[in-house]
Amino acid sequence: MFKNLNKISKKEKTLVLIKPDGVQRGLIGEIIQRYERSGLKLIGLKMVLPSEELVERHYSVDPDWKTKAGEKSLNSYRSKGLEPPSQNPEELGEQVLNNLKKYLTSGPIIALVFQGMNAVQVIRKITGGTEPLTSDVGTIRGDFTIDSYEVADVDGRAVRNLIHASSSVWEAEKEISVWFQPEELINYRLVNEAILYDVNLDGILE
Ligand code: GDP
Ligand code: MG
Repeated sequence: MFKNLNKISKKEKTLVLIKPDGVQRGLIGEIIQRYERSGLKLIGLKMVLPSEELVERHYSVDPDWKTKAGEKSLNSYRSKGLEPPSQNPEELGEQVLNNLKKYLTSGPIIALVFQGMNAVQVIRKITGGTEPLTSDVGTIRGDFTIDSYEVADVDGRAVRNLIHASSSVWEAEKEISVWFQPEELINYRLVNEAILYDVNLDGILE
């Protein structure tokens, strides 16, 4: 199937959270810079000390998230030949959520909204895979930290991977509404956008 090019929005939005370990490691500037230089536009930014209730709301946006997270965890145990603490994905997902609540309420985090063409996919690419040990070199999670599922699971805590990034346009829309009021997102033009999006570049040469 061909992608319908008319459907590619230049105003696609995505949510990024710099988790407490990113703030503690002094990586706020580095992380924002990596996203910013992609060409995407930063349209919302704030520091938040989230409550457990807010974290729960964030991860309840996708009603299947718990089961999916549990299945991912089960597969990771099985692939290592280890016995999971439970065979029930929902139960394991619940554990991951409880650990995430402790992790994300442990200190301030930075909430960001980026906008632009394929924003969700571009931000996920720059962020890298969930487990820092196996995420690609050149990605934020691959370059700036070292955690693994194995160590995190043995210690009974969430994988510390510096960042949350929305994984679909639908999820992004819901997640943004958990963290930002509509008036906190700013509509503005960047001069850079002409070189990214304009069909006609006749205005450059004098
Ligand atoms: P993401 O979209 O790449 O952040 O991954 P998920 O949405 O599946 O999981 C959310 C977060 O939960 C991850 O970023 C990790 O911090 C943590 N996490 C997910 N799965 C596991 C797991 O199996 N074990 C542990 N310890 N933490 C996990
Ligand atoms: Mg996710």
